[in-house]
Amino acid sequence: MFDVVPFIVPFTRYPYSGSPVACDLCGAADHVTVCTHDRRLKKLETVACAQCGLMRTNPMPTEQEIVDYYKNLYRLDYGMTSTKPSRRHLNRSHRQAANRLALLAPVLSKPARILDFGSGAGVFLHHAKQAGHTVIGVEPGKEFARFAASEFGVDVINDVWEKTALPGKFDVITTVEVIEHLRRPVLALRWLADALKEDGVLYVTVPDMSPNDRETFRRFHFAHLYQFTPQTLIWAAAQAGLEPDPRFQPKRTQIVFRKTRTPPAPLIFPKAQGLEVAKLYPHSSVAGYIFSLRWLGSLVFRIRKTLRDSLG
Ligand SMILES: [Zn+2]
Repeated sequence: MFDVVPFIVPFTRYPYSGSPVACDLCGAADHVTVCTHDRRLKKLETVACAQCGLMRTNPMPTEQEIVDYYKNLYRLDYGMTSTKPSRRHLNRSHRQAANRLALLAPVLSKPARILDFGSGAGVFLHHAKQAGHTVIGVEPGKEFARFAASEFGVDVINDVWEKTALPGKFDVITTVEVIEHLRRPVLALRWLADALKEDGVLYVTVPDMSPNDRETFRRFHFAHLYQFTPQTLIWAAAQAGLEPDPRFQPKRTQIVFRKTRTPPAPLIFPKAQGLEVAKLYPHSSVAGYIFSLRWLGSLVFRIRKTLRDSLG
């Protein structure tokens, strides 16, 4: 049986071996340490690529270690108590789906072919289908893919992207809080760019990991393998043949991209970008955090959330 305990005990390493990898954005192997712990107070090293500054987990979990984590622990780690999406989760998804459709309205005046990559419970697919579009999802989670099909009658490919052959090209692709979970996010963006029609758009959101006033270690999570800022997201997209679509106003790390119109010049990164990025995330003491008792608030929040979700 998969052992959950080593994933929970604070101040210990996660039970994975992983391996060092080169940066998926620029290919450089050199890196600078940004943080040594994560939000569960477990040891988890996050590094910034020395060349482009994109942050990633080091060492990188292997494909199999990621599969095991999602199968056994992901839901627990996110405080999800059932294999079905909670009512609360669905309500939130309905609001977000309506907002996403409204934002994309400039390119949805005619019936479109829409792909949602990481389609979860299928709520966005449902809204888009109701609006007259042809929709398909890709979702590796078995229960969520099944729920989307049975609850909303939408087509969902239940597999990881590396094994998915997409049927045709799309007018609109959306991917919300997905690529930060992937071992090869830039390669995945290129795969999505290839699936766009010439005038198609790709709507991407990832958590904005720009520095803020939270303790640095509280920003990191085992499930997030790469960490983007608006700049590194734009660079990652550029490497995948994408540029921000001028018809849409980027909002931090929520950006609508289109295929690059002219062959782009190779990216040139500012000097010593890794060191510069690491400086932006001041060391914050894990011990200091413990003694401050600030963690009590988030613990209470998580317990309340778990109770709420389990009561539906
Ligand atoms: Zn890099």
